Amino acid sequence: MKIEFYKHNIDESDISRVEGVLRSIFLTTGDIVQNFEDQLAWYLGSKNVIGVTSCTAALHLCLLAWEIGEGDEVITTPMSFCATANAILHAGATPVFVDVEEETGNLNVELIEDAITEKTKAIMPVHLYGQLCDMRKIHKIAQNHNLVVIEDAAHAIEAQRDGIKPGDLSDCVCFSFYATKNITSGEGGAIATNNTEKAKLLYMLRLHGIDKSAIDRYTKRYQHWDMSVLGWKYNMDNIQASLLIGQLERIDKFWERRDYLWNLYEEKLRDNAGIEILKTVAGSRHAHHLFTILVTDRKRDSVLFSLQEKGVGVAVNYRPIHLLKYYRSRFGYKEGDFPVAEKIGARTISIPLYPGLKDIEVDYIVTSLQHIL
Ligand SMILES: *Cc1c(COP(=O)(O)O)cnc(C)c1O
Repeated sequence: MKIEFYKHNIDESDISRVEGVLRSIFLTTGDIVQNFEDQLAWYLGSKNVIGVTSCTAALHLCLLAWEIGEGDEVITTPMSFCATANAILHAGATPVFVDVEEETGNLNVELIEDAITEKTKAIMPVHLYGQLCDMRKIHKIAQNHNLVVIEDAAHAIEAQRDGIKPGDLSDCVCFSFYATKNITSGEGGAIATNNTEKAKLLYMLRLHGIDKSAIDRYTKRYQHWDMSVLGWKYNMDNIQASLLIGQLERIDKFWERRDYLWNLYEEKLRDNAGIEILKTVAGSRHAHHLFTILVTDRKRDSVLFSLQEKGVGVAVNYRPIHLLKYYRSRFGYKEGDFPVAEKIGARTISIPLYPGLKDIEVDYIVTSLQHIL
């Protein structure tokens, strides 16, 4: 048997929507992007959405829009994809890592205040695997210390916790539509914010700082444009947006299937010696982006390779950022700096989870894993 780690959910209706754009005049940022932005804003209950080319770009632009850069510190988690901390470096600021909770892998909010200095300007929490951080507590800390909160919700577009959605208790939230995310355009991202002034700035920052979009410039009477701030080239195009519109309509259907598969995994793997499963916080709707197991009494890599040999697609999310070569050599990080993140990073294996995964494939994965253990 061969089970892919991930399969996207693009169907014929998505393909014909893309075809429609390809047969039209306007390929870059235009009406289709705006339709997608409106639809995502509605889904999240947010005032503004800005479509960009990646979540990395989204995080970078949010830091710029909230004027965080040289000399500033941003508190974040080492248990994430390197994009989170890299975006802080792209903005010229310094990432300051805080260790994570053992039960969820999310930022340990009890440790945040100890990491705050006079240079701290923002907190960038990551909702690991699709489970929201404790945004009420993070919001309170941010208010007490006058900090900006920029959420990395690359895993968590469908998540909720105590009625809180991504972006409800922060300045802005960033999403990814990268090839393996819950909805995808291959590459893509978005920012949501209730701050309409900053949203206006973000629309400019995603396209060089130009005050008119291409559609404004060319579809109406010709208008001269000006550039008032230095922006980047991060604008989402109509092709990407057309791929996302149908998937966003089906997003809760996808989630329901992953929820079913998640429960199947949990039921079958809960009491297995040799592995542990992270906790889902009570009162939360986990977005179920990644299903991970923690190998407890063997070498993770031997289990990982054995699964792969049995044809099961696997991934490691993540070896912690501070131990990556670049971060070690630039900042002098070493083993032992963030022990909980390191413990998860040394043990974790992600196994397949996507709507197209069949029940019998789950059976095969579980049996293979039990056999290996
Ligand atoms: C995928 C991912 C990103 C980066 O997203 P891109 O759209 O590829 O830039 C950032 N943070 C997390 C947690 C991710 O999983």
